[in-house]
Amino acid sequence: MSLHFLLTAEARTLSVLQVARMSDDDAFSLFKRLRWGEREEVACPHCGLVHRHYFIQTRKIWKCAGCRDTFSVTSGTIFASHKLPLKTYLAAVALYSNAVKGISALQLARDLDVQHKTAFVLSHKLRESLMVHQDDSPLSGEVEIDGAYVNGSIRPENKKEDRVDRRLAENQNPDKRCILVIRENHTEEERKDGFKGAKRTLAMVIEKESQGVMRKLAPLYIVPGSRVSADEADAYDPLHAKYDMRRVNHSVEYKADDGTTNNQAESYFSRFRRLQIGQHHKLGVMHLAAYANECAYREDTRRKPNGFIFLDIVGKCAKSPVSRNWCGYWQGNHRHLELLAA
Ligand SMILES: [Zn+2]
Repeated sequence: MSLHFLLTAEARTLSVLQVARMSDDDAFSLFKRLRWGEREEVACPHCGLVHRHYFIQTRKIWKCAGCRDTFSVTSGTIFASHKLPLKTYLAAVALYSNAVKGISALQLARDLDVQHKTAFVLSHKLRESLMVHQDDSPLSGEVEIDGAYVNGSIRPENKKEDRVDRRLAENQNPDKRCILVIRENHTEEERKDGFKGAKRTLAMVIEKESQGVMRKLAPLYIVPGSRVSADEADAYDPLHAKYDMRRVNHSVEYKADDGTTNNQAESYFSRFRRLQIGQHHKLGVMHLAAYANECAYREDTRRKPNGFIFLDIVGKCAKSPVSRNWCGYWQGNHRHLELLAA
């Protein structure tokens, strides 16, 4: 039997030690290359002028020949106005890439010896860069769809007489939300080449699984005519009109007689629950969409070497604009709207 990919040496192309051994110059060059490409076409973030800048070696900044303004390697990116050395950010990405079930801000703070506040904002900037670069074009071929609830449980009161009926709508947790996941599986051809499971995942937050929500979201994220698998929940009934629907009734079986399963969607939720219960414990509704998308990214890159994931995330950070939600977070700049898909 062949060795599982994650146990092979090819899966380990990066270590946190490697990043820790980098010099400040190495960190600078890496970020510069990932931001402006192999040809390092340095562009001014203020006026867009390419390649005509005077580099001030001692301060590691450029002075633009067009607008006369100066800029650094992180100006105009999600790491703009950074206070820590660039290498610390790279180390954060290395820790974050290796943490396949997510990493809590407290753990990151201890690993990097920074304040919890710093680690919290930093890890959310990484999540934001994943969202900025998320490909949300519609899925096709074999698609699985499912929903799972978070923040639904309420702790019962100590005394029996104080307890409420937790099934009633008025006693539900106001932070209860549903994560809807839609996954596209590898094609028959790709499976012959050894690819397994799902290849692209879209995850979003909705208030609840309902027919109205599915009527609205399915056309946006699934190409008409695709073969869609879902469980027995009646929310998915309207999809029969536009898709080749397959259903599996989980109260009876996990695999229908025609081979239909929802296992890829369940795999996503398996990872999501580990991220929730094992790392973050409490997921605030304001940031739920970011956690859901992080988990989708981790599922889609599950068979990639960790060095690839590290460079991919640093590249995404280098190409993400200054964060509107996280720049100045502890100075009171908070987003007040939840990111709900429907
Ligand atoms: Zn300029």
